Amino acid sequence: MKRLLPILLFTLPTFLLAQLKSPSEFLGYELGTQFTRHHQVVDYYQYLAQAEPNRMKLMEYGKTNERRPLLLAHISSEANMNNLEEIRAEHLKNIDGNGSPSKAIVWLSYNVHGNESVSTEASMQTIYDLLTSKKEYLENTIVIMDPCINPDGRDRYVNWYNQYKNTPYNVDPNSKEHHEGWWSGRSNHYMFDLNRDWAWLTQVESQQRLKEYNKWLPHVHVDFHEQGVDNPYYFAPAAEPFHEVITDFQREFQVTIGKNHAKYFDENGWFYFTKERFDLLYPSYGDTYPTYNGGIGMTYEQGGSGRAGLGIITSIGDTLTLKDRIAHHHTTGLSTVEVASKNTDRLNKEFKKFYNQKNFKHQTYILNGNADKLETLANLLDKHEIEYGSGTNSNFKGFKYSDSKSGTLRSSNQSLVVSTDQKKGTLVKVLFEPNTELSDSVTYDITAWSLPYAYGLDALATDGTVQQNEYQSTNETYGITSPDSYAYLTDWNSMKDAKFLAELLNHNIRVRYAQKPFTADGINYDRGSLIIIGADNKHIDGFSMILDEASKRFSKHLTPTSTGFVESGKDFGSSSVEVLQELKIAVLSGEPTSTLRFGEIWHFFEQQLNYPITVLDESYFGRVNLSKYDILILPDGWRYRSFLNEKVTEKIKDWVSQGGKLIAMGGAIDGLSKQKGFSIKEKEQKKDSTVRLEAFDASEREYIKSAITGAIFKTKVDSTNPLAYGYGDSYFTLKLGDRSYNYLDGGNAVYLAEDQNIPVSGFAGSEAKKMIAETLIFGTERMGRGHVIYMVDNPLFRGFWENGKLFFANALFMVN
Ligand SMILES: [Zn+2]
Repeated sequence: MKRLLPILLFTLPTFLLAQLKSPSEFLGYELGTQFTRHHQVVDYYQYLAQAEPNRMKLMEYGKTNERRPLLLAHISSEANMNNLEEIRAEHLKNIDGNGSPSKAIVWLSYNVHGNESVSTEASMQTIYDLLTSKKEYLENTIVIMDPCINPDGRDRYVNWYNQYKNTPYNVDPNSKEHHEGWWSGRSNHYMFDLNRDWAWLTQVESQQRLKEYNKWLPHVHVDFHEQGVDNPYYFAPAAEPFHEVITDFQREFQVTIGKNHAKYFDENGWFYFTKERFDLLYPSYGDTYPTYNGGIGMTYEQGGSGRAGLGIITSIGDTLTLKDRIAHHHTTGLSTVEVASKNTDRLNKEFKKFYNQKNFKHQTYILNGNADKLETLANLLDKHEIEYGSGTNSNFKGFKYSDSKSGTLRSSNQSLVVSTDQKKGTLVKVLFEPNTELSDSVTYDITAWSLPYAYGLDALATDGTVQQNEYQSTNETYGITSPDSYAYLTDWNSMKDAKFLAELLNHNIRVRYAQKPFTADGINYDRGSLIIIGADNKHIDGFSMILDEASKRFSKHLTPTSTGFVESGKDFGSSSVEVLQELKIAVLSGEPTSTLRFGEIWHFFEQQLNYPITVLDESYFGRVNLSKYDILILPDGWRYRSFLNEKVTEKIKDWVSQGGKLIAMGGAIDGLSKQKGFSIKEKEQKKDSTVRLEAFDASEREYIKSAITGAIFKTKVDSTNPLAYGYGDSYFTLKLGDRSYNYLDGGNAVYLAEDQNIPVSGFAGSEAKKMIAETLIFGTERMGRGHVIYMVDNPLFRGFWENGKLFFANALFMVN
């Protein structure tokens, strides 16, 4: 039958061709009465693409961690689809002011949060209507639809729901079908929040999507979400704070779109709100990132999420069904396309203007530092299609990041130079600027992310332009030239070095490292430098081949030496040279921990360090024989006080005393600080005893006093502590809250010294600043034959704080 279809298309009169199957007809159940699994969604989109080859193009732009396809549907009128490439080219030419585009480009993204499960269902009805009853919108509009940004998360939820639901579904909020549990579907496979990842691109879904996104840079982008069950619908305009780069037009068009939605919602008697809660600042969202790329980026929020199932009683006694939720997202989706199609001229004119006007205070950013860190940053810039060059030998004046004030920096051919005078100039400003202007301190997310701090680079922001040369990564050759050397030496400064070490350990290669600086063959080596000795690895087949390959793969320079007798410092046979062998590492998962914080560790091991990790769930933790593991990691979380009962605490303490290494992060430290035997203690909060007589309405402002909404602080580092090997004497930390601990009695690797409680970037309230003054950031404590490592701040936060990752690697490998 399928083969006959093209012939039928030519022979049948057109009115008979309009029999496109709706989602309900195709799926065999009425849309909204079941959750549709991802493969069925894929089937429907493929069906539409086959049935409408002249008006729809479907592409697979990648695969998820669990091998599910990532899809993009491009739909428009037949005439537009025949000229799709020309339309795209004309649109992009508009950026340079050369094009004369006449079409609107709208991109609709669904289900970035997997358990906000209405989105993908609504997408099917939306694309169907755009191809049928609303096809006039497509005459001058290209609509690009991503039916599911996060298929792994969505199927985690949908499969779970289908297994646990009552038949018929039960609207009682107490029923199991409304309680998804810890391993929820919001995030992706690695428990990352993909709606915090647009700028950092740590996840495969984001990386693959952005390549396609950059090919279009749409006028309008919508990210469809869900919020709590009791919330009315939220749509644009967004709340303050708005980033200062957002143009008047971008603000104004949000209102235009919002008013059109309101018209439909009013007609139907549906509730909604605007201008609250969802701000436009943090650059890694599905609304801000498109905005900083010239589009109108918006978040739409339906009430529901993983709580709502097919139907649920709300707190005021109404029943919210999946069908209601679909109707709302479907309405705003169509309304968005409608507004865009009525404003094509305006959108094109303003898009051109956005790229035209770049009058930023700082025109150039110059970055110096460790070559690996510069390369990691250059890789990120490549993904964003941000251009950069290298410098020439000259001095520049400007804002110096390391001192948080004006100063001088010398650029060279090793420097990375990034200008705002380029297509992605606005994004450059947002990502690099030392301090983000805040129109309001009440925000939904972190207020600081400046890349020079995150990447640990010495940087200068200057007002003028800086001469640039083409950037060239080093053309050094790697590998082993003298395979029979006594030993090979290499430095320890970056995450790349940690990956190199992990690779050797994965091959059972024995590696030593120096606990004291030394000099060999006239070269100085710092603490942490790796020493790979042939005699240690006689038993390894193909030892020099493995070493040669690892050196090339990680561009790691290995210096051969013919003797273990050093010129200064400790010889390689000394007890100050530690031996590293394969490590067995475990991480706790489940209720005590936060899914996101657990996921960051999981992803760090499997996708960054490439080293195996065992996940121990709290539900059977009590039965696990810990002596099988060298390291146990307790991720940040909120429920450690109940998890760490006497029995569990004793078990952990015994294991540490016998040589185990415990890494406690965030909330896990809070749990341990309440237990005997751990010297970490919470800083006492000085209660403010003044009676406050502000208006009731000011309560939110009052709360802000004790808030730190993700701000950057300069800290002191003791680089003789193994936890801080490879670092200098200062480190910029990202603080996410005011929970604070006193200094340890020794072992303070990183800490806020006197007067360091003022953020260099981002917001910290007055009470919070008092609270964190002179407190610990990262520290180590000996316990029997083992160690406890405390990480108060999170060096793995969202996988983007590059310069913190070596601390985590040090905790694994260097603290012994
Ligand atoms: Zn969401």
